Amino acid sequence: MPPAIRTRNLEKDYGDVRALKGLDLTVPEGSFFGLLGPNGAGKTTFINVLVGLVRKTGGEAEVFGHDVTEDYQQARDAIGLAPQEFNVDRFFPIREVLEHKAGYHGVPPAEAKRRADEALRRVGIYDKRDTRFDWLSGGMKRRFVLARALVTDPDLLILDEPTAGVDVELRHDLWDLITDLNDEGTTILLTTHYIEEAERLCDQVAILDEGRKVTVETPEELTREGVDTLTLTLDS
Ligand code: ATP
Repeated sequence: MPPAIRTRNLEKDYGDVRALKGLDLTVPEGSFFGLLGPNGAGKTTFINVLVGLVRKTGGEAEVFGHDVTEDYQQARDAIGLAPQEFNVDRFFPIREVLEHKAGYHGVPPAEAKRRADEALRRVGIYDKRDTRFDWLSGGMKRRFVLARALVTDPDLLILDEPTAGVDVELRHDLWDLITDLNDEGTTILLTTHYIEEAERLCDQVAILDEGRKVTVETPEELTREGVDTLTLTLDS
């Protein structure tokens, strides 16, 4: 089995801005992998290249051995993404939004409905299934975005700062949920500014800075080396 993510010399330019400068990164299948780094390090750009939201300028990027450009659909179908900024259809009940998403990925209607219900139950908002996204609280929106990532039953779940600005209770709920998903075999890529979150959840951590990989280590090694100067501190 190829790694969940493998990039070689990956580059992304936005005009004159070089956001990724030759990034080599391997995320093993089944791992819980943290991506840390200061604002502007290139974490979101890296994710956006993997899911095809932006096109790489150079180098290679594969998801489970599928090139993210040439085998776009196979790579994309393997990924569930919970992005930092939500862009959700606001006019339909959230269950329908999930059904549409599953349908778009080729899941037949009856199975799409079953998966939508299961995903909503899993994140704890099944009782809100007939509500529109706009009418959910901030915390429920976070839960919904995770349900949307899960509805395609992904092998790789990418979470872009899933706990930024959430209260302690929700943060702990999300941690439990994603730990369970990883225990069930889903590979997780998590970006975070919080060293303690990485330490609690991840088995490997890569630090990015200015579009380059600085190091890949275990979270314990990072803490020992005082890398938390790069990050914020959690108050939990
Ligand atoms: P944060 O932790 O603040 O979310 P990040 O590590 O995710 O930051 P990116 O958002 O990937 O970093 O940004 C990397 C660099 O690319 C930054 O210099 C940013 O200003 C630039 N950048 C990102 N998106 C664009 C864009 N659409 N157009 C131009 N420059 C961009």
